[in-house]
Amino acid sequence: MANIAENIQKIKSELPDDVTLVAVSKTKPNEDLMQAYDAGQRVFGENKAREMEQKHEELPKDIEWHFIGHLQRNKVKYIAPFVKLIHSLDSLRLAKEINKRANNEDRVIDCLVQLHISGEETKFGFDYDEAIEFLRSEPLKELQNIRIVGAMGMALHTDDKSVLKKQFGELKSFFDKMKKEYDHFKVLSMGMTNDYEVAVEEGSNMVRLGSSIFGPRNYK
Ligand SMILES: *Cc1c(COP(=O)(O)O)cnc(C)c1O
Repeated sequence: MANIAENIQKIKSELPDDVTLVAVSKTKPNEDLMQAYDAGQRVFGENKAREMEQKHEELPKDIEWHFIGHLQRNKVKYIAPFVKLIHSLDSLRLAKEINKRANNEDRVIDCLVQLHISGEETKFGFDYDEAIEFLRSEPLKELQNIRIVGAMGMALHTDDKSVLKKQFGELKSFFDKMKKEYDHFKVLSMGMTNDYEVAVEEGSNMVRLGSSIFGPRNYK
């Protein structure tokens, strides 16, 4: 059994103050989330819209819910009323749907543009050129109910630090460049259990940690 409170405290004490910890609670029961909550954690990440909707309904209302996985357009409506940050904006079509649902809710939803930085073909997200084109595109500028506040990326699953350093470093350069163009650009979400120390060294200011907080996940 993972000691969730202890894990949170240890990780928080090691992270620089300006790095936000997202506790990735996907597949985990409410009791586990409440242990983290009681240890002071308020930001949680989920990757299934219905699961997040249900947890939002059942748990304290001062939790910030971050959506972190590929988001299907037909699921946006379930999270639009309350989601705090969507880390996985990966197409204009998705942006339009989020904008529409945010508009229905009379709110502006913050999103991160997801870059695929791992060199693997199958991963969701833009490559760097596509992302710049997307961010500068006219149709995006017309969407008044979404605000793009930064970038997110997942590195290759590897223990090779030089590969991680390179992939995170490239995303940081992209982030710095975009920051000069966009006032709202301020979040750089990179780093998971396996690689967050390198990510933070390379300039991440938001890490998404699941198993190092809650222990391994059991997928049924
Ligand atoms: C599951 C997940 C995480 C957390 O993974 P851990 O290795 O358990 O820390 C972070 N980011 C995304 C996008 C995920 O899907």
